[in-house]
Amino acid sequence: MAEPFTIKIWGARGTLSSLSRRTDNFGGNTACVEVRCGRDILILDAGSGLQLLGDDLMRRLKHASQDDAKSLLNLNLFFSHCHYDHISGFPFFAPFFHPSAKVNVWSGHLEGPDKTRNMIADYMRPPFFPVGPEVFAAELSLRDFEPEDVLRPIDGIEISTLSLNHHDGCVGYRIDFDERSLCYITDTTHIVGEPDLRIPDFCRDTDLMIYDGTYTDAEFPTFWNFGHSTWEEGVRLAKLANAKRYMIFHHRPSRDDKALAAIERDCRKEFRRSWAAREGQVIKL
Ligand SMILES: [Zn+2]
Ligand SMILES: [Zn+2]
Repeated sequence: MAEPFTIKIWGARGTLSSLSRRTDNFGGNTACVEVRCGRDILILDAGSGLQLLGDDLMRRLKHASQDDAKSLLNLNLFFSHCHYDHISGFPFFAPFFHPSAKVNVWSGHLEGPDKTRNMIADYMRPPFFPVGPEVFAAELSLRDFEPEDVLRPIDGIEISTLSLNHHDGCVGYRIDFDERSLCYITDTTHIVGEPDLRIPDFCRDTDLMIYDGTYTDAEFPTFWNFGHSTWEEGVRLAKLANAKRYMIFHHRPSRDDKALAAIERDCRKEFRRSWAAREGQVIKL
């Protein structure tokens, strides 16, 4: 029998959180995706949605079997990069304050030695933040990799990485588990008419491609140098990749529920099995 392989969206917004009645349906928290491979939990990005995930993990821990509790306290968190919308939830992740938790924190977008440690120390320091990572009770293991490395943090899970086209660097992830796969490609830009063919190669035949659809093609000329892409470019790449499903991610803060629903309708005309990511949504792979 196939092992469970599911994802849950804890934050789908990009750039800045956008919490209001007008964004209730798609949600307003920034990038955070939980990936469950069997019992094991991987986390993609630490945007404001990470706080919600952390609280939920602590709730699950109260009712967990011994084996489940072990997985809930042994986590792997992967940064695409550390722009604020991908790191702002980091200091507020409840498992970091649990003395039995062990969290591997991975990043590969920066240069130089000890880059994950430096990234966290730079983010959690005065005058931007009152306390440093020494407040955490959990055992954090800060791990560096280079884009294009293949990571195997847990037996049976293979994580491929790809450098993306974004200011200050960014990494895309492909997670292969039990003959299925998920690709997380956010915060990347493109040149009109010149698809970044590394992406369809990387996402070849994937079960789900998540892609940076911050803008529309019509908006793109105004924002071409902001480091993001369009949902239509995502459709073109998902088709080239032969992806089975395509999810628009990293929604603009100004995009309300009505506007996102309209984008979703238009997207489905181009790619039948597609949708705009919603906070709280669970997808089985
Ligand atoms: Zn972002
Ligand atoms: Zn970014």
